[in-house]
Amino acid sequence: MHRVAGVHERLEQFMAGLVRRNPGEPEFHQAVREVAEGVIPFVMAHPKYEEARILERLTEPDRIITFRVTWQDDAGGIRIARAWRVQFSNAIGPYKGGLRFHPTVTRSVLKFLGFEQILKNSLTGLPMGGAKGGSNFNPRGRSANEVMRFCHGMMRELHRHIGEDTDVPAGDIGVGGREIGFLFGQYMRLANRFTGVLTGKGLAFGGSLVRTEATGYGAVYFLQNMLATRGDEIAGKTAVVSGSGNVALYAIEKLNELGATVVTASDSDGFVHDPHGIDAERLAWLKELKEVRRGRVREYAKHFGCDYHEKQRPWRVPCRLAVPCATENELDADDAETLLDNGLLAVAEGANMPSTLGAVHAFRGRKILFGPAKAANAGGVAVSGLEQSQNALRISWSREEVDRQLQAIMRDIHEKCREEGTDADGFIDYVRGANIAGFRKVADAMLAYGVV
Ligand code: NDP
Repeated sequence: MHRVAGVHERLEQFMAGLVRRNPGEPEFHQAVREVAEGVIPFVMAHPKYEEARILERLTEPDRIITFRVTWQDDAGGIRIARAWRVQFSNAIGPYKGGLRFHPTVTRSVLKFLGFEQILKNSLTGLPMGGAKGGSNFNPRGRSANEVMRFCHGMMRELHRHIGEDTDVPAGDIGVGGREIGFLFGQYMRLANRFTGVLTGKGLAFGGSLVRTEATGYGAVYFLQNMLATRGDEIAGKTAVVSGSGNVALYAIEKLNELGATVVTASDSDGFVHDPHGIDAERLAWLKELKEVRRGRVREYAKHFGCDYHEKQRPWRVPCRLAVPCATENELDADDAETLLDNGLLAVAEGANMPSTLGAVHAFRGRKILFGPAKAANAGGVAVSGLEQSQNALRISWSREEVDRQLQAIMRDIHEKCREEGTDADGFIDYVRGANIAGFRKVADAMLAYGVV
């Protein structure tokens, strides 16, 4: 009933409606367009999804909770922040997705992240729906006590909306183990329940081994799987990584272990170029700088005597492997062309939507190995799912066991992308493969429920 002659017209008609219904939300539009480009031809070829209007339903969140967080700074001043929880889809399991604390957080950013999360969680094969939340609270420069008061204030409202079978948040930018501890402590007091309501918890209170490392390690495992399709491997290659947070640090660690030389790291102020390589010893120093002292990467450059590039991104540094791990839209079409001209072989997106649509088109156009975020960085949420399982069973698996399961899940995601995304000439279009594989499972569940 909603079919028109061509894929292109159908895509543009769908996007025009989405943009009209969601004004002023460019990140959400971008994330949906990337998915729709691959899914619309698929939906048109399978009228059951088209007739049930699955894509239209899936791009409308189940609900968005918006609330005020009032907290007190160390000087006694009253501070007000805005917070959200976007519960996007629980078609295949309880809502699941991280919380982000960053001044750039808006409803649009959280809708893009929540939408991506639906398909990513589906790809893991675990029973998890899609959600995302966060606040425009800026943790930078705040004391630990201020962060604690903010987290406690946020949970005063959030606790009403989450639960181990309802919605299970985790970390994201600005929300690491420390913040999850504050959030969990407040949840426990308010609900009077010790339960797996958050993931990324400390090991003393229900956390899983390898959760901290999972996103970065998983992205590198995905890269390994992609290279293997061309009979290639990570060892001996130069890698450029952006970011220096949770995802970046553990991507660097795994790249090192597998024999790559990682020559960059960055934060929102600039990047360091270390031709020697951020080896195990230097990485230990960087981890201490970022995780304990909460310093800036420019201090790394000063300490190890290498170049620091203020307000620049690392994509002009020649490399064979690129692993963007900082934030959305940090790699544009020009950056992609520069990387390609310098001999780039493969990209694994550790961050969510780090490549602009122009960059994605450039990578796919030149047929390099391009692992999009929803496939390449799904290791984090996958191990969150394993944390939920361990909490439900009241047991803890060993590091080896969790890492084994993580590797198996990343292999399985790679296989799903290959099955759904292989072109006639043998090229694997991981973007299309991930979108269709993720979509199909959620769509089938929605069809089974009827009109809800
Ligand atoms: P962290 O807060 O630990 O680290 C974020 C890093 O990115 C920091 O180095 C930060 O620099 C940098 N960064 C943040 N915002 C910007 C910006 N606007 N411009 C340039 N650099 C920026 O977050 P994570 O490592 O957890 O998350 C990184 C990315 O990975 C995000 O896209 C997130 O959504 C995604 N992701 C995370 C998962 C997880 O398990 N943590 C799971 C899946 C995806 P600075 O210190 O200056 O702020």
